[in-house]
Amino acid sequence: MTVSEELFARSTQVIPGGVNSPVRAFNSVGGTPAFMVEASGPYLTDADGHNYVDLVCSWGPALLGHKHSAVIEAVHAAVEHGLSFGASTAAETELAELVVNRINAVAPGTIDQVRMVSTGTEATMTAIRLARGYTGRDKIIKFAGCYHGHVDALLSEAGSGVATLSLPGSAGVTAATAAETIVLPYNDEEAVRAAFAAHPGQIAAIITEAAPCNMGVVSPGEGFNAFLRQVTSENGALLIFDEVLTGFRVSSAGYWGYSAPSEGNWAPDIFTFGKVIGGGMPTAALGGKRQVMEYLAPTGPVYQAGTLSGNPIAMAAGLATLRAADDSVYATIDARSAQLQQALTEALNAAGVNHSLQRAGNLFSVAFGTAETGVHNYEDIKNSQTYRYNAFFHSMLKSGVYLPPSAYEAWFLSAAHDDAAMDRIISALPAAAEAAAQAVA
Ligand SMILES: *Cc1c(COP(=O)(O)O)cnc(C)c1O
Repeated sequence: MTVSEELFARSTQVIPGGVNSPVRAFNSVGGTPAFMVEASGPYLTDADGHNYVDLVCSWGPALLGHKHSAVIEAVHAAVEHGLSFGASTAAETELAELVVNRINAVAPGTIDQVRMVSTGTEATMTAIRLARGYTGRDKIIKFAGCYHGHVDALLSEAGSGVATLSLPGSAGVTAATAAETIVLPYNDEEAVRAAFAAHPGQIAAIITEAAPCNMGVVSPGEGFNAFLRQVTSENGALLIFDEVLTGFRVSSAGYWGYSAPSEGNWAPDIFTFGKVIGGGMPTAALGGKRQVMEYLAPTGPVYQAGTLSGNPIAMAAGLATLRAADDSVYATIDARSAQLQQALTEALNAAGVNHSLQRAGNLFSVAFGTAETGVHNYEDIKNSQTYRYNAFFHSMLKSGVYLPPSAYEAWFLSAAHDDAAMDRIISALPAAAEAAAQAVA
């Protein structure tokens, strides 16, 4: 038995499935999950001493690479003053100002205020409550395949058909809750128009990932986000861009900052942020214009609170991360992403593997068997040959490269991915491409 196998056997006794977040269990790729003991720069080390180049980056937060010296120093300095005060600190305002400034640098006046919470789930949950409180309406539109955390109202899956009741995507979600969520196919303008026509005056908001990255990456069709801005405005609903994953990763102002300037500067009413904003500590946020944000308590009637919201250690990590994330950090990640996408394409083509790459700025993923169709929505990715990904994943893992343990996830690079790390990834690709080619369903 390896140390990881022993640890996993123990953890399954006292933790459901042995993990505290399901994808970590390796259920979709198979095998025993590696238990990690160290993360540094672009590398992870597991309990058996195996070293991996990390292409998960803690699912996004490690934008600068793991254990970046500026972040570690800021956290150590904050720890010296105490772990949590249960009262306000200046760092919360500094991080809020930094977020507001980054967004408004793209288009002045886009957001005024930010509320800090601890997880992305809390951010989207609050955004929805705020949209409902602000509009006085109950229904929410979400898109199949978009993930917004484990909020009851947002776990509803594909119940296509506009007027039908959606089935709960999870046991324990009441039918009444699911019924308030209208689930539509992504990239389908007609379905969105039909939903507004079928529920006049009832839809509080559309929530969408600014670019979906939780069904693998799916690029928004040209003009789709701008269309969502227009249709929500016309119908008195709010638009919520969930940038928990893409925020401060795809560009200094997220996917919106990356794509909106060239498409007429459409902006949502509420952004949600997470992952990078906490630099590896549990912090997330929602932000928008004053007139909407001040609907939150204590200025407004929509209640929201958090014992550890704006925690000083988390604020220190987030501030240090965003302050260090300058243009050269984004340029490095963009360049490494382009380099990896090209090497991946070459390796898969050389092995004759039918595939397509989906992109959202520097985020991307591969979908096998989709060269002819591409991937435009959840149906497309569900119809892809995910069994080839599992073979590909395990070959890469054996070569010391840690990919997301699911075909439904984006690949994450960091500014710490240097030539040595890239060389290891790129030399592992041909064998993995061959494994994908040989895989059987
Ligand atoms: C990760 C993620 C969430 C949930 O964030 P947690 O911190 O895991 O609760 C919400 N939305 C998107 C787009 C995400 O990628």
